[in-house]
Amino acid sequence: MTTVGGAAAPVRPTAAARRGAGLSEVRWDPEGFWGGRQQTNAAQTFSHCVAWMERLGWLENFDRVGRGETTIERAGWEFADSEVYKLLEGLAWELGRRDDAALAAVYDALVARIVPAQDDDGYISTAFGHAGLPPRYSDLSTGHELYNMGHLMQAGVARLRTAGEDPLVAMARRAADHVCREFGVGAREGLCGHPEVEVALAELGRATGEPRYVEQARVFLERRGHGTLPVRPLLSAEYFQDDTPIREAEALRGHAVRALYLSAGAVDVAVETGDSGLLAALERQWARTVERRTYITGGMGSRHQDEGFGEDWELPPDRAYCETCAGVASVMFSWRLYLATGEVRYVELIERTLHNVVATAPDASGTAFFYANPLHERVAGAEYAGEGVNMRAEGGVRAPWFDVSCCPTNVARTLASLHTYAVAVEDRAVSLLLYAAGTIDVAVGEDRLRLRVETGYPDDGVVALTVESAPADEVTLRLRIPGWAEACTVETPDGAVVPAAPGWWDDTRVLGEGDRIVLTLGNEPRLVWPDPRIDAVRGTVAVERGPLVLCLESTDLPEGVRLEDVRLDDGSVPRAEGDGARVSVRGRHELPAAAGGVPYAARRSAEAEGASSFDVALVPYHRWGERAPSEMRVFIPVAEGR
Ligand SMILES: [Zn+2]
Repeated sequence: MTTVGGAAAPVRPTAAARRGAGLSEVRWDPEGFWGGRQQTNAAQTFSHCVAWMERLGWLENFDRVGRGETTIERAGWEFADSEVYKLLEGLAWELGRRDDAALAAVYDALVARIVPAQDDDGYISTAFGHAGLPPRYSDLSTGHELYNMGHLMQAGVARLRTAGEDPLVAMARRAADHVCREFGVGAREGLCGHPEVEVALAELGRATGEPRYVEQARVFLERRGHGTLPVRPLLSAEYFQDDTPIREAEALRGHAVRALYLSAGAVDVAVETGDSGLLAALERQWARTVERRTYITGGMGSRHQDEGFGEDWELPPDRAYCETCAGVASVMFSWRLYLATGEVRYVELIERTLHNVVATAPDASGTAFFYANPLHERVAGAEYAGEGVNMRAEGGVRAPWFDVSCCPTNVARTLASLHTYAVAVEDRAVSLLLYAAGTIDVAVGEDRLRLRVETGYPDDGVVALTVESAPADEVTLRLRIPGWAEACTVETPDGAVVPAAPGWWDDTRVLGEGDRIVLTLGNEPRLVWPDPRIDAVRGTVAVERGPLVLCLESTDLPEGVRLEDVRLDDGSVPRAEGDGARVSVRGRHELPAAAGGVPYAARRSAEAEGASSFDVALVPYHRWGERAPSEMRVFIPVAEGR
């Protein structure tokens, strides 16, 4: 059963050796990298999303169902309902994190508007199943009815864990009961084209203690992969992950968000049912996907077509899709695998993805977002005018809202609960996974360990921990040493400075008030070379600093130098500057082909005669395009002869 209150968090396996922190067990300082984003999310993003949903009629859709005035002319896509639910989930986590009377009123008002739209048997949709609308479940491939109800269930889980039973939780239960009756074994043999209800049912099963919900999630998983979903024009079975049973797949494929939500739900089912074969299959698929189908940012999805994964090594920087939601979903998948296995590699990917995809999407105001996150923008996007929705998800500028606006609410619900991913507790070990300034106060058995964390991470590579109170008995402090921190040292409470290798650093002792542990990770920028099998970026190099991927923006180039001409200077070593770096480049190149011909020739290009090198600034990718629309690239070609 669920624990209501401070220990609440997303993902609470029933019989887990390991758990993430509760919402009240970690407090991030509002000045920090993530604490600031959480504060902006609370102060700006929720109300921004409500305003847009109101303006576009996505809330009115629920009112119409309640009033019995449905029409095919309803506003938005079939999945617009889910945005309301994702927002409610985010609000529930936020209200579990801290009191906020204004947001509580927003939550209550939204719930009051959606309650009347639910049918007596638990079904809820504003796009199907009512007068003037298509019948229930008449388009399982693209209708998103179960997907939407899944998001309602996830919102219910967040509320149940943070506040206990309420009308939203009751709605989620009724929806889940309806789904089990309608789609259980012996009933309708269907599944949803967009996975989501699986992860939602599994979590609702945990939160309510209802094994029926986990079982229904399992049934949906096993039903998938046999080509039974009606294929739509241009959308293959692979797009829906209905081409191969989940146990038999080698890597994630098809639509990236679908594949990742499905995988997250599958881990939940594997863990709840003790299915080690399924868990092993998912670990293999994760490894293969990360090794060959993942961008340096952690972004996933190489194709705008199908918003999908490409083949192995198909990772073009300019055509990268890397939907923000795929970043969120990847974190969901990896977090579950970490909780199931304790392996550091999952946290490594989470950190990479959070800092370089999730943090990139919203601008500093929390009211404009990237949908796609390409690694190379050849033409600066047009400044967004700020009126209607943005149809062009790949436009190179953050937009306040989209025609398909899945990403803003996904960012909102993730940021509201993100600090629960920062710390994990396992028996008497406390693992620090993500570093941010703030206070950790976690239950360790019957005791508590309270730590103060001082750091400017990720812009600073020193993390200082001070024990404020500790159990009388031994505890293990387990620090995650990032893969890039090869010269890491740890100063222990007795003053010794010891080297620590990437992975876990464990220290077991009786801690006392005032004890200090100082982790020095180093924070120098470094060159990072792509695997040569990624043809699209062969001959280029990227620069990382700490967990941040850096990029070169046209904003930082001298007058007259074009981004497309810039080459990293031979032997250039990046130097730290601000939160980014400086590198030496050349910007004039003698091109191989004569003007007017095709851009190919029987000789190689060369550095232009007399071209001198100059320094340029690289900035964190997460804030690209914030100063002005820009041309941008992460991978910089290396000058010939290097
Ligand atoms: Zn999205």
